[in-house]
Amino acid sequence: MEIRVLDHGLVRVVDRMGDDAAIVQAARVSYGTGTKTMREDQGLINYLMRHSHTTPFEMCEIKLHCKLPIFVARQWIRHRTASVNEYSARYSFLDNVFYIPNKVSTQSELNKQGRGIDLEDTTEIIELIENHSEESYRKYLQLIGTEEDPYVARELARIVIPTNIYTQWYWKIDLHNLFHFLKLRMDPHAQYEIREYANAISQIVREWVPMAWHAFEEYQLYAVTFSRSELAILNRRLKGESVEFENSGLGKREWSEFNTKLGV
Ligand SMILES: Cc1cc2nc3c(=O)[nH]c(=O)nc-3n(C[C@H](O)[C@H](O)[C@H](O)COP(=O)(O)OP(=O)(O)OC[C@H]3O[C@@H](n4cnc5c(N)ncnc54)[C@H](O)[C@@H]3O)c2cc1C
Repeated sequence: MEIRVLDHGLVRVVDRMGDDAAIVQAARVSYGTGTKTMREDQGLINYLMRHSHTTPFEMCEIKLHCKLPIFVARQWIRHRTASVNEYSARYSFLDNVFYIPNKVSTQSELNKQGRGIDLEDTTEIIELIENHSEESYRKYLQLIGTEEDPYVARELARIVIPTNIYTQWYWKIDLHNLFHFLKLRMDPHAQYEIREYANAISQIVREWVPMAWHAFEEYQLYAVTFSRSELAILNRRLKGESVEFENSGLGKREWSEFNTKLGV
């Protein structure tokens, strides 16, 4: 299975091991024949996910071939629980393939790590990014020289290239850690570009382990957790008390996040 991402990127399944049955089988080693209600596979997987019994999910592993811009790779590589082999720009030549966004937004005023409104006329900005990418690649080739007359080492020549150039890697991870990656990187707070990759991987996982995916959506992806103070507010409201920001005891930001969790 191969999914195209952004303008030149991709996510392709190279190999995988295990499935929903492997999760259930591993759990049954812990639980033996189990209780009557635990025997149903979806029920058992839901139980494991709800109670953070995570190791059965580690019985499933997936190896992906990804083509991604370097600035996305820098965020992605922070997930330390995967095994990675990246294309070497010390050993090989970088291809002239750059990510050029098709949408450009302003800096968000509310979130220092986010985008604001989409700009309408982006021609000039996109041209600037394209020209800069092309110009940097010309300089890269100039530094490398020719086969007959090589000049600067590839490991040094590459430093003139911006981070929107594409790299490639093999990325192998188990399902438990993949769910952690997806929870963080499918979130609206994650940058659009890495979110696109996470969304592509989610399609693969959905088909691969449908029961585990269902449990993940139910108990993690679309679930929220409440702090002790938030629970106290909910309890007060259930008892009929009117709790607003002023008498909530929460900070401004916490109050806003609390309301977001409640969908208000
Ligand atoms: C929206 C968003 C914004 C971010 N902004 C920034 C930023 O501004 N600056 C920045 O530097 N990073 C930033 N990050 C990266 C973030 O801080 C984490 O490094 C990244 O999300 C990986 O998370 P993780 O460590 O839980 O994942 P993994 O590395 O995959 O680890 C999974 C889990 O394994 C355990 N684990 C792994 N290694 C260790 C260890 N050495 N010690 C103890 N436990 C370990 C932890 O429980 C961890 O949660 C951002 C991430 C997101 C999603």
